[in-house]
Amino acid sequence: MQKFKAGIIIDATGDGDVAALAGVPFYKGREKDGLMQPATVFVLLGGIDDKTEDVFLWKGNKNIISKMKQEVGNGNIPFPAGAVNIMPGKQKGTALLNMTSSINVDGTKSEDMTRAEFECREQIPPIINFLRKNAPGYEDCYVIRTSSTIGIRETRHLQGKDYITEQDLLKGRIFEDWVVTGVRYPFDIHSMSGIGQDESEPGEKVKTYTIPYGCFISEKVSNLLFTGRCISGSHMAHSSFRMMPTCFAMGQATGTAAALCVKNNLLPTNMDVGLLQNVLLQQGVDKPNG
Ligand SMILES: Cc1cc2nc3c(=O)[nH]c(=O)nc-3n(C[C@H](O)[C@H](O)[C@H](O)COP(=O)(O)OP(=O)(O)OC[C@H]3O[C@@H](n4cnc5c(N)ncnc54)[C@H](O)[C@@H]3O)c2cc1C
Repeated sequence: MQKFKAGIIIDATGDGDVAALAGVPFYKGREKDGLMQPATVFVLLGGIDDKTEDVFLWKGNKNIISKMKQEVGNGNIPFPAGAVNIMPGKQKGTALLNMTSSINVDGTKSEDMTRAEFECREQIPPIINFLRKNAPGYEDCYVIRTSSTIGIRETRHLQGKDYITEQDLLKGRIFEDWVVTGVRYPFDIHSMSGIGQDESEPGEKVKTYTIPYGCFISEKVSNLLFTGRCISGSHMAHSSFRMMPTCFAMGQATGTAAALCVKNNLLPTNMDVGLLQNVLLQQGVDKPNG
């Protein structure tokens, strides 16, 4: 057991470990059954012939998608891999694969993380063989590197003073105590039982929304802020606000809030949100359009 003392603490652990240990209530995953989004090991490929038309298969190359499903059915690619999800890498001739998948993983449990790590890494060679044989431009592709550890999309949802839901995203809600603005990433729920996107993912579009200060604090622990994918919000809303650019903006908001607390001898639960908003605007944060 270790003890750290600090005036103001920001929990940026992704899983909300500090807040959970400090007694902030939480639940994990989807409200009705606790299922969490699948875990993935990312792969960086080289040797891609990027002069090939539609080399990242974004036009929904149906032939490849159905072949991939067949290979999963034949047992040549381990389930629940089977989605074709490729992004360009930074260097020419490289591609990032978001194609391994492990379901029923609780990223706060080391035994689950280990199982997911093995499952995803075992999927990599068959996926590469499949791409070499079936995807134009991938004939000579090879693995440059993989992510160092399994990537966890979802674990705890902390219970804050406020709680953002999918309804707020669909309405494009401008909260009075906004501290993150201009969020418009769509709902993005990877299948929690099979291949590809989850059937529960809403078809409706997210309207540009804000995130209120109350999602970053709990009335139960007065000197704590939390930030990133564990903030107070529903499973569905999380599938949008978990994206990196939004998490960066959350970090800016909570870091600034903590600095103002120290400067003005305040606790996060007593923050003057108007003051915080003014400082964020001075830093260049966009005013919400409403
Ligand atoms: C496979 C995968 C693909 C994704 N693809 C995209 C994408 O294409 N675009 C996009 O925008 N987002 C994507 N995301 C989502 C995005 O990466 C995450 O939701 C986001 O990074 C979460 O940010 P965070 O700050 O909450 O947590 P993290 O980025 O996970 O940061 C938490 C940090 O805290 C550290 N930490 C944890 N516990 C402790 C501790 N006890 N002591 C010290 N340090 C600790 C961790 O090591 C980590 O560095 C993806 C996520 C995954 C898993």
